[in-house]
Amino acid sequence: MKKLAVLGATGSIGDSTLSVCRHNPGLYNVEFLYAATNVDKMLALCIEFEPTYVALSNDLASLKLKQQLKDHKLNCQVLPETEVLSLLGSAEIDSVMAAIVGAAGLKTTLAAVYAGKEIFLANKESLVMSGALFIDAVKQSGAKLWPVDSEHNAIYQSMSPMLQENIGHCDLDTGGVSKILLTGSGGPFLNKALNEFTSITPDAAIKHPNWSMGPKISIDSATMMNKGLEYIEARWLFNTNKDQLKVIIHPQSVIHSMVQYKDGSVISQMGNADMRIPIAHVMGGEKRIISGAEGFDFFSSANFTFVEPDYNRYPCLKLAIQACYEGQHATTTLNAANEIAVQAFLDERIKFTNISTIVEHVLNQLTHQAVSSIDELLVIDKMARDSAVELINRGIIC
Ligand code: NAD
Ligand code: MG
Repeated sequence: MKKLAVLGATGSIGDSTLSVCRHNPGLYNVEFLYAATNVDKMLALCIEFEPTYVALSNDLASLKLKQQLKDHKLNCQVLPETEVLSLLGSAEIDSVMAAIVGAAGLKTTLAAVYAGKEIFLANKESLVMSGALFIDAVKQSGAKLWPVDSEHNAIYQSMSPMLQENIGHCDLDTGGVSKILLTGSGGPFLNKALNEFTSITPDAAIKHPNWSMGPKISIDSATMMNKGLEYIEARWLFNTNKDQLKVIIHPQSVIHSMVQYKDGSVISQMGNADMRIPIAHVMGGEKRIISGAEGFDFFSSANFTFVEPDYNRYPCLKLAIQACYEGQHATTTLNAANEIAVQAFLDERIKFTNISTIVEHVLNQLTHQAVSSIDELLVIDKMARDSAVELINRGIIC
């Protein structure tokens, strides 16, 4: 049995991952569970999966969990946060589900990459932040990288083994690919009048029409920053140039992305909007395993439609695509400013429309910098966060 670490175990992707584990007993041994603060949920997972190791990044939560595990006479070892990276690099772990949300997932995802593990990549922000450094490290360490994000998983499934094997460095032109068509639903505000955007509430923005996800990615889906981050993610995973990558709005979220070939063929992966499908694909490796998701019913589905994205409606998407071609300093800045702005919107400190304005302001303050190390990226990340916080605190944007 392969030994699995689930990073972000109490979140939405964590739920789906552990659900796939339940459907496939004997495939993975859940060895390590890691999350931020949710003691009750982690305790329940420890009772069910009996991992050897468990950790919570919040110190107080970690202490509480330790006590509760003791009360339940459970043998899981509670690791201090400082020992998480070395565990991920050790022989105790074979496969890592990287599903922490945001830049907080960078260090753990990279630790798994450096150690040459099998990585199931959900934490797109880590790749957006570290792009070439991440992909080069995958090549150097021989890590096996599997895309979990439904679109990237669909693209991967629509490619030939030659392209799949060279993920991160594949030559699309030699592989006969003319374009990758990255689909997105358009989120809950696809048809909302633009003059009503300033009054959008967090509750309304968080309700995705098709997918059930964590709060940050739900807001990113409403602004389509999520598609922008996925554009950058696809650029790195599939080594695309500007002409080889296009975003298409497909409101029904049945086609999860497509690959168009030079001969005119278009290959896609389809299914219900259930993250257990791509998760089962990556966790099953070459085998198809049970995901627990319903099979798609073509007769009870609506028509499939496709729309060109409108950048007036989705300014975040435009900013992300621009940042993608500006360089690593820009994508790191975009990601950091967005994380701060999304949290401020969730906390009702700024309006929905301020998210893109803040990201744009922070990007405009940026001067070009070549980036050659993760430490340099972390400095850029911090500067962007500080600028975004300052804009919000001084009320410049609101
Ligand atoms: P979520 O908010 O539901 O869960 C996030 C998890 O990360 C939680 O377990 C939380 O405790 C943990 N976490 C946060 N900060 C941490 C820290 N500092 N240390 C340790 N753990 C920490 O988020 P989600 O929707 O599951 O998304 C997770 C990642 O997967 C994101 O990068 C997202 O973009 C990506 N993703 C999600 C979906 C989806 O359907 N939910 C689809 C594609 C990609
Ligand atoms: Mg996605």
